[in-house]
Amino acid sequence: NLQATTTLHNGVKMPWFGLGVYKAQDGDEVIQAVKTAIKNGYRSIDTAAVYKNEEGVGQAVREALEESGLSRDDLFITSKVWNSDQGYESTLAAFETTMTNLGLEKLDLYLVHWPVNGKYKDTWRALEQLYKDGRVRAIGVSNFHVHHLQDLLPDAEIKPMVNQIEYHPRLAQLELHTFCKEQGIQLEAWSPLMQGKLLDNSTLQELANKLGKSVAQVILRWDLQNGVVTIPKSTTEHRIIENADVFNFELSAEDMEQINALNENLRTGPDPDNFNF
Ligand code: NAD
Repeated sequence: NLQATTTLHNGVKMPWFGLGVYKAQDGDEVIQAVKTAIKNGYRSIDTAAVYKNEEGVGQAVREALEESGLSRDDLFITSKVWNSDQGYESTLAAFETTMTNLGLEKLDLYLVHWPVNGKYKDTWRALEQLYKDGRVRAIGVSNFHVHHLQDLLPDAEIKPMVNQIEYHPRLAQLELHTFCKEQGIQLEAWSPLMQGKLLDNSTLQELANKLGKSVAQVILRWDLQNGVVTIPKSTTEHRIIENADVFNFELSAEDMEQINALNENLRTGPDPDNFNF
């Protein structure tokens, strides 16, 4: 169910399933989306400083807690330090701004949003400090290739607990997935639906018809069966509910193979190696 968690390497439990809020407008749109999600059982919300909706996320969380009887510990809130804030002192300052915007005491997961060359090690030291100071329950990276991790790990005092990457049936990132598994770094999928571009894929449609599920549900179930945390975005109530309804069916080994065969190393977002920072 939506409360099912994976245990990160520091023992913190992270929900397998959450709501992404990239491009959800601050104010009413993001507030309604987050409250709708929590009301329907979601426990994890993924935002970032650059999404410019941390204030709305924080307000929604506070309102949802008041209205639901849930406690703050029941929820798992993620944010990320933006590229222009990378570096040691500037990351510490960016974290304070994020916490002020969210209006929360503690963050559950803070991520380095992209591997900005020449800076991500200093950024990582700041995240380690925030973790040691008890400001955040877990720390991780995003958009790190194997070579970024291989570069960071020897200098890291604390190993990242999570790597959040673009991941969907067209981009299964097998080498990175294997590496992260070996290292005990939990993989998390962004743009799990390839921003909607996979929803009319005929293989997935046939599978969905056979199983009596939607294409989105088939893809999100594939994430979970691959051991990947997933955070699809929607601001529409019926889709927020639909996307999370993936805990009552299973893809067979054959179904999984059919989806695996769609992998062609195709991105919808930028390649972290050629990102114009
Ligand atoms: P996504 O793959 O989750 O797709 C979202 C799109 O699909 C939206 O346009 C939505 O309207 C549509 N959609 C959602 N559910 C649907 C359904 N059931 N039926 C039909 N259409 C549906 O794309 P995303 O928002 O890019 O990724 C999810 C989250 O990942 C983001 O919101 C953000 O939190 C995170 N993210 C992180 C990074 C990063 O660099 N770390 C980058 C991009 C996104």
